Amino acid sequence: MGTTAKSSNERRKASRPVSGSGPTRQCLGCGRRGAQVDFLRLTLDRKDAPPRVMPEAGGARSGRGAYLCLKQACLDQALHRRAFQRAFRATVTVDRDEVAAAIATRVGYGEANDTAGG
Ligand SMILES: [Zn+2]
Repeated sequence: MGTTAKSSNERRKASRPVSGSGPTRQCLGCGRRGAQVDFLRLTLDRKDAPPRVMPEAGGARSGRGAYLCLKQACLDQALHRRAFQRAFRATVTVDRDEVAAAIATRVGYGEANDTAGG
C-alpha cells in the first residue's frame, strides 16, 4: 500500500488595501483615511475641566488620540459635528485657534495650498 500524502497547507491571504507601512487613521472632519503622518494628532489635556483637546506637542503620548487632516476646513467640520466629543467619549473643549495654528505649522507657510472649499 502506497500512501501518497500530499497536503500542502499553505493558505496565505494577506490582503492589504493600503500600500506602505504603518497604521491608518481617519480624519474627524471629512472621514478620509490615510497614513498617520498625513494627520495632526490630537490628545486630551485632562488637567482642565472639562478636558481640553490640544494638538500633540511632540513625543509619544499615551492615551486616546484623534486625528485631523492638515486642513482648517476639517477642523471646522469636526467642531460642527461635535466629532471631538465622540472621539474622546467625553465632554471636551476645543481651542480652535490653537489647533488651527498647529495645522498651519504642519502644513508650512511655504507651500500653502489655497484649497478653500466652502
Ligand atoms: Zn479631513
